[in-house]
Amino acid sequence: MKTAKAKHPRLSPKREEEIAELAEFLANDRFPTTRIDPEAIAKSEGIGIIPGNYGDAFDGMLEHDAGRFYIYCNLERVESLWSPRARFTLAHELGHFFLDEHRNALKSGQVPSHPSYCDHESKNPIELEADHFASALLMPSDRFRKRAKKLAAGLEGIRQLANEFGTSLTSAAIRYAKLDIMTCVIIKWNMDGYGWKWLSSSAYELGWRKTIEEPAKLVPGSASECIFAGNSDARNEIQRTGSTATYWFPFISPSSVRDCIIIEEAISLGRFGSLTLIYANS
Ligand SMILES: [Zn+2]
Repeated sequence: MKTAKAKHPRLSPKREEEIAELAEFLANDRFPTTRIDPEAIAKSEGIGIIPGNYGDAFDGMLEHDAGRFYIYCNLERVESLWSPRARFTLAHELGHFFLDEHRNALKSGQVPSHPSYCDHESKNPIELEADHFASALLMPSDRFRKRAKKLAAGLEGIRQLANEFGTSLTSAAIRYAKLDIMTCVIIKWNMDGYGWKWLSSSAYELGWRKTIEEPAKLVPGSASECIFAGNSDARNEIQRTGSTATYWFPFISPSSVRDCIIIEEAISLGRFGSLTLIYANS
């Protein structure tokens, strides 16, 4: 079922920090200078990887059987074991393995194996924890920040980061906002409407909180409207238009000192919908 209007749930900052510390230690220890390879990490831990075609049942699943862990990876949904989606799925399942509470619960049989999806839609804390682990493992904060500073601001830079770190554009965009690379808001649109959003911490402090959530309210000709309405046929084309904070954030009045010129960028994600990135014009 779609959870149309809910804000994206968050873990506590303390828990996020603990998880990121563990994931980044692993990333920097095993792959200090090269792209993180979650498949190699799984193999070195003796985890069996079982690729297969499992319909829509899951993207990935971690199972414990007779003293050994196995990751099932659904090629029907992640395409190949080397795709950004598969890498995120493997990293997510590694989260269930490396986070003590997750692994112990599986090992003791207290909880059954559960299907995981790497679409960032889950509101289950266990899934959020594994997603956060995956994000920090594949995009360690120090090197992600360092590269982001050298690249163009906005979606162009995020797309480059996704290529370099081997993740989806959506995963890189969430990381970008979470690490507060700049004051920004990411909005994910599904094919039928609003999906979720992530605010960078400085955006939240600025009062960039409640945003437009109805596609019908998007300004005709704006970047997001063009992409949402399918008026841009080029899958990889970034649309960019100017806007104002007042327009995007209904609680900021035009007379407020918090109103400012902002850049709105949007890009299609094909069957997954589209992304809007809003940031200050500096
Ligand atoms: Zn999971």
